[in-house]
Amino acid sequence: MTRSDKTTNSQPILPGSVIGVLGSGQLGRMFAIAARRMGYRVHTFSPETDTPTGQVADVEIKAHYDDLIAVRGFASDVDVVTFEFENIPAETAQAAAERALVRPGGAVLHTTQNRRREKTFLRDNGFPVTPFRAVNSLEDLKAGLNEFGCPSVLKTAGFGYDGKGQTKITSHDQAEAAMTAAGKQEMILEAWVDFMCELSVVGARGIDGAFTHWGAIQNDHRNHILDVSVAPANLPLEITRDAVEIARAVLEQLDVVGVLCVEFFLTRDGRLLINELAPRPHNSGHLTFDACVTSQFEQQLRAVCALPLGSTELLRPAAMANLLGDLWPCVRGESGEPNWAAACAFPNVKLHLYGKLTPKPGRKMGHLTAMAESAEKAAEIVRKAREALI
Ligand code: AMP
Repeated sequence: MTRSDKTTNSQPILPGSVIGVLGSGQLGRMFAIAARRMGYRVHTFSPETDTPTGQVADVEIKAHYDDLIAVRGFASDVDVVTFEFENIPAETAQAAAERALVRPGGAVLHTTQNRRREKTFLRDNGFPVTPFRAVNSLEDLKAGLNEFGCPSVLKTAGFGYDGKGQTKITSHDQAEAAMTAAGKQEMILEAWVDFMCELSVVGARGIDGAFTHWGAIQNDHRNHILDVSVAPANLPLEITRDAVEIARAVLEQLDVVGVLCVEFFLTRDGRLLINELAPRPHNSGHLTFDACVTSQFEQQLRAVCALPLGSTELLRPAAMANLLGDLWPCVRGESGEPNWAAACAFPNVKLHLYGKLTPKPGRKMGHLTAMAESAEKAAEIVRKAREALI
């Protein structure tokens, strides 16, 4: 079947149809759970087997993203393709688009998978973004350090997440070593932001331009990895309103059909700066699975299937704590499992595990969500439940 035989642009793709997911991690898994609950079939494509997504999908295809014959075959068998991982090569998205609708479109992927392109897009369109400059040589880096001062952060332009590919430069004489460690990659240097807090807005945009969001979610990171997210964020209303308006404008400007998360720093003098964009459901939005009428995953499904978007109402204040591989005794050379029963003894805590077979330090293995009468209480409970695992 060619793309032209398939559902045209604005027609809804109804339950019973097949959704293709490029990527196979936990985001795809939770998307697949939402899709199967609504009667869709899910095919996943990635270079691995027995993956978090594959374990709940109808079909798991193992092939490399640059195997374009396999990509076209995968896309031919589905009604719409989406992705759960933005580091999919542009050619892969293009090959899929020859055989199926791809939502969000490949242009969104192209802009957001490279920090330099993403930040340039944001700056050129008047969005507030962390000061940055492109770095191609030691001279560029030295000029950037003179401009931003120390500390600054040197980041790889591509394939960076959870602080990977980042070096904090705290004095000018570290420039040469940082450049040598970076090798021949495309880089950017960012000013260090002495933020008051980090927050995110997960937005969803439908085929008709309808926009929904889950408000501002407050995020605490540990070692550059998201640790705990809390909703609603404890922030002045104007800050939340401005963050949501910025997110809405970003989704519109990128013409997103699907879900996109905007991560912000809130500076000590009250300014919002965009740190980065993620063109898919986001770790900070995992709490929407249990705490909202419509989760970010169901909303992604509704958007890519051209269905009306659901209510994003928060049913109860909530907090999410990531479960990293470090919690597993085997990572410390001991035997046994985390104490799941102890976490389940908290009646308002929900356990999510992603089916990953090998725990490793820093690897996201699952999360806990707690719901309570206030966001602070939910955060307290979720941390206690996580401590009970050890
Ligand atoms: P990223 O992978 O760029 O989202 O970075 C991961 C985390 O590192 C962020 O959530 C921040 O906690 C921290 N970080 C990254 N860039 C900066 C910056 N320019 N200034 C201060 N902290 C940063």
